[in-house]
Amino acid sequence: MSDAQVEVSEIHWLMDMFQTVDVGLVVLNCDYRIQVWNGFMESHSGLTPRQVREHYLFDLFPEVDEDWLRRKCDPVLLLKNRAFTIWEQRPYIFKFRNYRPITGSAEYMYQNSTIFPLTNTRGEVTHLCLIIYDVTDVAVSRLELESMNHRLHQLSKTDFLTQLHNRGSWENTLVQEFKRIQRHQHVSSLLMIDIDHFKRVNDDFGHAAGDDVIREIAKLVKKNLRETDIAGRYGGEEFAVLLVDTPEEQAVYFAERLRKSVENLSVHHHDVVIRCTVSIGIAQSGKSLVNHRAWIEQADKALYVSKANGRNQLTLASQLSDKEF
Ligand code: GH3
Ligand code: MG
Ligand code: MG
Repeated sequence: MSDAQVEVSEIHWLMDMFQTVDVGLVVLNCDYRIQVWNGFMESHSGLTPRQVREHYLFDLFPEVDEDWLRRKCDPVLLLKNRAFTIWEQRPYIFKFRNYRPITGSAEYMYQNSTIFPLTNTRGEVTHLCLIIYDVTDVAVSRLELESMNHRLHQLSKTDFLTQLHNRGSWENTLVQEFKRIQRHQHVSSLLMIDIDHFKRVNDDFGHAAGDDVIREIAKLVKKNLRETDIAGRYGGEEFAVLLVDTPEEQAVYFAERLRKSVENLSVHHHDVVIRCTVSIGIAQSGKSLVNHRAWIEQADKALYVSKANGRNQLTLASQLSDKEF
């Protein structure tokens, strides 16, 4: 082959590669009019090079955020810098549907891009080249991993049987609330709730029936809560509820409503109906509490008095005499 023939072949091969390479290649002039559009761009946009050539990019693709892309491209034109965009900042530049079977969960193609200047023979920047990379696989795996981690984190804080906070997570929240109360002089109330004679439920109806009772009572606790309140499963058949920004007089309303709703609850387990009650201890936050443990202890003592006085009732820690402490 002569040199001229080799050169022609090389150009031919380059054009072939340009058309088939698995990244998008777009050349824009300084007015953002499309000059070059490769096969990748054609197959994903459905628009041929002829249909896009000399068109203003932002007219043809209104989904491309003009201000944002210009902010990226201006330094490329002025300073001959390269610029990059990543899917974490903005999922895509061009809104192309995702057809890949493995990453079918993504509706649109996630894209990274590189933007670099193209110069004329005098070294002046006259055009921009955009390279569009399809990073849907990477993005979807990362997003799935993040969502899985989030789910695991949630699970690690949640009690399996009741879906309330587990003890560790509930106590962490209490510690935070205790600090907040100390800083801002707020008043919150703590409730300890224990199912009465629960051993009998297990003995008479079996452990699975007992589990149903715990679950149903947890549902009642949740139903009676406000958005800001925090309920946890403190022990086997014991619940702890933090009523945020709630003085004890109001906490009594919550506790009494809960006590009554448990009293009226019928838990159906196979063909038996199980009834039970709860005892409750209430402690309001106050200056005398040295730490969150002391707060729990007060609510616990009030609960103990509710049990000792016959169960199915509430007791306020503030009303206990010193001898009961
Ligand atoms: P009291 O009125 O004094 O609270 O009597 P009680 O029978 O409820 O006594 P206690 O609190 O000592 O007993 C709790 C029982 O709860 C003991 C345990 O077998 C049972 N228990 C703890 N966790 C679970 C659980 O997850 N499922 C079931 N079914 N039972 C549990
Ligand atoms: Mg009990
Ligand atoms: Mg108990």
